[in-house]
Amino acid sequence: MNKHVTVLEIDAKALLHNLNFFKKKLAENTKLLAVVKAFGYGSDGVEVAKIVKDQVDYFAVAYAQEGIALREAGIETPILVLHPQIPNLEAIVAHRLEPNLYNFKIFDAFLKLADERPLMNYPIHIKFNTGLNRLGFWHTDVPTLIAAIKQSNNVKVQSVFSHLAASEDPREQEFTVGQINNFAYIVKQLYTHLGYEPMIHILNTSGVVNYAKAQFDMVRVGIGLYGFANDPQETKHLKNTHNLKSIISQIHQVEPGETVGYNRAFVASRATRSATVPIGHADGISRRLGNKNGFVFINNKPAPIIGNVCMDMIMVDVTDIECKEGDEVVIFNHQQHVEYMAHKSETIPYEVLTAISQRVERVVKF
Ligand SMILES: *Cc1c(COP(=O)(O)O)cnc(C)c1O
Repeated sequence: MNKHVTVLEIDAKALLHNLNFFKKKLAENTKLLAVVKAFGYGSDGVEVAKIVKDQVDYFAVAYAQEGIALREAGIETPILVLHPQIPNLEAIVAHRLEPNLYNFKIFDAFLKLADERPLMNYPIHIKFNTGLNRLGFWHTDVPTLIAAIKQSNNVKVQSVFSHLAASEDPREQEFTVGQINNFAYIVKQLYTHLGYEPMIHILNTSGVVNYAKAQFDMVRVGIGLYGFANDPQETKHLKNTHNLKSIISQIHQVEPGETVGYNRAFVASRATRSATVPIGHADGISRRLGNKNGFVFINNKPAPIIGNVCMDMIMVDVTDIECKEGDEVVIFNHQQHVEYMAHKSETIPYEVLTAISQRVERVVKF
């Protein structure tokens, strides 16, 4: 039984279903990289990796520490670290993680380390900026890069990649196609001068959905694995992976004119039954969901959040719901509910999922 009553259940079957949905969209030789950064989009990166490891070619994490956690859990799959920092390069090598080198500062630091060791053909990944303007070399850096790479036997470019800025937005199609063409042009130059042909990849989840022709050698699927395709038609085919649950700790009878919660934000206009649920903004429930902007399900009925969201609790209106203390509360168990919460919190499902704090226990359902 759960020690904590507030639990995030991770649905292993749903994860595998979603993985296969994307695999079916890929050409036979296209590899699949599963993005498990930020604790597997707020679930449990290590558990997700264990569930999908035999069916993916690569994992990606944002930071070295996340990759180390996977290695310490026994994951042997290649792991790309998307945003390494110079102080972490030694740890990256120690754990056989593969760094993305995105500017000359980190590139030079890694080559220096590789030469000193020396490392042999250590896999590195080179990222190019094609319009996101976040991380990556510029196309004008290609000649300098090639010269430096050719000088060293200690590193081998495993892949060359870029990242799309607006792959989910049909209004930005022209820009996105421009990014893809720009990337293809850079790759062509590299292939001509490097002497070998590293893997290339540019698509994230929405890229796979909207620009399938640009699969190249590999695609990087993140949010899709967790049930969201940034497109209602596609999301329909995906299964919900995150189920957030709690219980009713206490029920209060509130008389007309009395108030509930901090700042007395809810004022009862009728005799009201208020249920207190042990999950709050410190667990990832946005304060924007207070005052009836958000709701939970109790015995299959929607119960609006009344008053302000507290740090550790919410209060919900159960006047019209048959329920008692100890009953289960579903915070969300469907993508549509997460999308609604995201909308009401003025954000996107990515943030709703990753905001679920580490205080909430994770349990995998197989
Ligand atoms: C997070 C991330 C992804 C995954 O994007 P999704 O939209 O979640 O599929 C892919 N590539 C890079 C570089 C990323 O940072």
